[in-house]
Amino acid sequence: MKLRSYALGRWYEAPGGFVDIHSAVDGRTIAQASSAGLDFGAIARYAREVGGPKLRALTFHDRAALLKSLATHLNERKEQFYELSYDTGATMRDHAFDIDGGIGTLFAYASRARKELPDERFVLDGDIESIGKKGTFAARHILTPLQGVAVFVNAYNFPCWGMLEKLAPAFLAGVRCIVKPATVTAYVTHAIFQAIVESEILPEGAMQLIVGSTGDLLEHLDSQDVLSFTGSLETSLKLRDHHVVAEKAVRFVAERDSLNAAILGPDAAPGSPEFDLFVREIVREMTTKAGQKCTAIRRAFVPRAFYAAAADALREKLAAVIVGDPRLERVRMGALAGLAQRDEVRANVAMLMTEATALFGDPNRVEVEGASTETGAFMGPVLLGCERPLDATKVHEVEAFGPVATLMPYDSVAEAIDLVRRGGGSLAASVYSHDSSAANELILGIGSAHGRIIVIDRDDAGEQTGHGSPLPALIHGGPGRAGGSEELGGMRGIFHYMQRTAIQASPARLASLLNAWSRGAAEVRTESHPFRHYYDELVIGETIVTGARTITLEDIEHFAHFTGDTFYAHMDEEAAKANPFFPGRVAHGYLLLSFAAGLFVEPAPGPVLANYGLDNLRFFKPVSPGDSISVRLTVKQKSPRKPEYGEVRWDVEITNQHGETVASYELLTMNATEKEVASPVLAGPPPVN
Ligand code: NAP
Repeated sequence: MKLRSYALGRWYEAPGGFVDIHSAVDGRTIAQASSAGLDFGAIARYAREVGGPKLRALTFHDRAALLKSLATHLNERKEQFYELSYDTGATMRDHAFDIDGGIGTLFAYASRARKELPDERFVLDGDIESIGKKGTFAARHILTPLQGVAVFVNAYNFPCWGMLEKLAPAFLAGVRCIVKPATVTAYVTHAIFQAIVESEILPEGAMQLIVGSTGDLLEHLDSQDVLSFTGSLETSLKLRDHHVVAEKAVRFVAERDSLNAAILGPDAAPGSPEFDLFVREIVREMTTKAGQKCTAIRRAFVPRAFYAAAADALREKLAAVIVGDPRLERVRMGALAGLAQRDEVRANVAMLMTEATALFGDPNRVEVEGASTETGAFMGPVLLGCERPLDATKVHEVEAFGPVATLMPYDSVAEAIDLVRRGGGSLAASVYSHDSSAANELILGIGSAHGRIIVIDRDDAGEQTGHGSPLPALIHGGPGRAGGSEELGGMRGIFHYMQRTAIQASPARLASLLNAWSRGAAEVRTESHPFRHYYDELVIGETIVTGARTITLEDIEHFAHFTGDTFYAHMDEEAAKANPFFPGRVAHGYLLLSFAAGLFVEPAPGPVLANYGLDNLRFFKPVSPGDSISVRLTVKQKSPRKPEYGEVRWDVEITNQHGETVASYELLTMNATEKEVASPVLAGPPPVN
């Protein structure tokens, strides 16, 4: 089968220059790849000119809805992707990481984007900054999508997840992409891409696919583009040092080699739950995806006294691992991605063995079920041991990207920290300890060298996600040799495809541009109370100012005894006076909030469904008996939540009889969108995020 690229809105078959792609399991040729003849300049232009404007016209919620539909579409076809994925050497268990994990990432990003990003085409970042003394000039940071293209150059180990985990944030940001999968497993990416195109869910030009080499694509990149690379250190340096990347300041992110560590705490003696968890996790990391996982444990550190026991426990578990045809149910570990990849792992093991000895396994020999090591890229798990890791260098620098780990002893926690840090910066480390002081020392000691640290102990054993499962909500990236890409993963990953800009203008201009009211911007007065207005009818800036209410000593006494809050500042004149903040007895802050609600609430059933909470509450000035308060309530921001209701953020300011602000906060309510759906929602559970 000749794999085709998808460029300029159509499938493209190269006229020649094909390289064969072989099954990792039996070596048969299953596909051919070539990008010969592609016009890479036209591909970059097409992405910018055709895909860009359409994507940017959508809001984050629009894009999230498309992403969710796409995830659903792919999920319905995952069996077909599993079938292909077996030929990469992956077992059914491995599909859960690559295929299900990739599709799950789309679902997770889509869901979080709807909750955490506005239904706008920009993101507000931080609050308003007042600049002028009179309040007529202010500033606010916003993020808008880059208008270039995101180029994904991906590694062979995750042909599905690798593409989708990059697609989700870029697409949500409003940036189109060009995907270049690693050739050896490109047939899986190709099939998923084909399903994406057939779905017709994404706008034209949103995605293009290059199967084969990237030709002169990098020559056509520009300052609004992002080059996102996953693969080896060596290739990463080539791309980073490309003259266009440097000259045009193309945003470059890399996810690359990582000598991830697992550390058994000094308290975790053989027989403890943490010791068992450590052993289980190392075996799992060595054998999942045949160790071809960027986060896989490569270095395992144990207290010297437990070294022999750890080696024995690992040997015993590794001996039970059945290697072979990944389609067979009994088989625990499949093949590496190809024979060339196996050769590379063997060469790296040979290098490691100049400093370490084999505790288990032989890189050149393994018993295989249902397949042959001649044609299939099989390799058994190899556990190495290095008893003098302080004197070694290769064990901290050479990544054998396969089922290989090195066990090493340490003599103190400080030494363990030193050894872990010799990895030069990693994606993930895991700590196995139930002793707070050791675990805390380790975490703080290795934190700055890692993107993620997972502490595994008896308390979280039932729920922990394991050493190496990247979660869409969390960082996937790491400092130093791991690529320095701390901003990848999580919702901040989306912002990597956006530019942060400070907008300095009058509060009125900022309010109209950003659909977010702030003090100093115009207030909109309507005849009826804003609580009578449905979500869609409410206007940003809509305001009511209430009448005044005088607070008496009886009010304070009553509130104190009614609630049980008889704190001395409200009850004891002498003691209150002695306090540096109060002139004498003062009203409770909660009394002010309650009275404020009493002043602004419009009580009859209507569009306001629920009080959802308060943000940024501050009490600025004490209120004494005899003072009077009034309230200004203004619609600050609106965020759609469900078709039936949306969240309204109100700016609330309580002032005293001198016009001084005594308290300030943001009130959140859920408001019905339409009259007819208001009642059923009211009857249901309170709406929560
Ligand atoms: P690789 O050889 O560096 O290749 C990675 C990608 O770069 C492939 O798509 C490859 O395409 C492409 N490529 C190679 N040379 C290129 C060039 N001159 N210009 C443009 N593209 C080029 O890495 P790999 O062997 O596929 O992947 C294994 C490595 O990836 C391991 O070292 C592993 O640590 C790392 N990895 C890291 C992470 C992470 O998140 N940190 C995740 C997964 C893997 P072809 O396939 O067509 O050559």
